[in-house]
Amino acid sequence: MRIARYSVGGEVSFGIVEGTGDSIEIAEIAGHPFGAIEFTGVRHPLSRVRLLAPVLPSKVVAIGKNYAEHASEMGGEVPEAPLLFLKPSTAVVGDGDPVAYPSSSTRVDYEGELAVVIGRLCREVPASRANDVILGYTCANDVTARDQQASDGQWSRAKGYDSFCPLGPWIATGIDVADVAVSTRLNGEVKQKGRTSQLVHKIPDLIAYITTCMTLLPGDVILTGTPAGVGPMQVGDEVTVEIERIGQLRNPVVAR
Ligand code: MG
Repeated sequence: MRIARYSVGGEVSFGIVEGTGDSIEIAEIAGHPFGAIEFTGVRHPLSRVRLLAPVLPSKVVAIGKNYAEHASEMGGEVPEAPLLFLKPSTAVVGDGDPVAYPSSSTRVDYEGELAVVIGRLCREVPASRANDVILGYTCANDVTARDQQASDGQWSRAKGYDSFCPLGPWIATGIDVADVAVSTRLNGEVKQKGRTSQLVHKIPDLIAYITTCMTLLPGDVILTGTPAGVGPMQVGDEVTVEIERIGQLRNPVVAR
């Protein structure tokens, strides 16, 4: 199932994306997708709605250096325990929304990543039960002001600008993401190409590790880390994160 959040005529709803190609439609659901799904009977062609970020998380928990080749391109090793940082909820934007390049940075990078969307309030989740708390998966771009990541000594500003967390286009549920392709294209040129089987700390272990520290709420998002090949974006570029079995997340880069 694919769950989208969208607006049509100024009204924001969740819906289920059905069909393929030119005949994709969204079937509106009542309320939110965290619980039993109830259809309202209202349907829209996908082309008639504006997709929004598929979820509004209370927090985005991200993992640094979780692919060995990326850790090494950053000049480091994979951390023994998952390296956690937070991105503010206000950084989240959806498919098609612009990434706003701040004038305070001269080096803003893309980082294509698989994102996990949490389905229920949870804490102290054992890895063996992690699947029970996952609603589904979406594509993410962990946009980073690389110069400030180095100069600040910690990452809140570098990772936290408005629009630095594109998510979308929708949440795919019921899929196996143990070994799916993750790629990032800049203006159509492939820059990152990895597979989730290369994740050093796997999703169940990440959920166990995170929830020994903080409670996760429905809609919270975990960014699982980026493969090798990160690099800079410029104003005027378009960046696309594509994940097998989920879809494509496309965002233009504009001056803030
Ligand atoms: Mg990242």
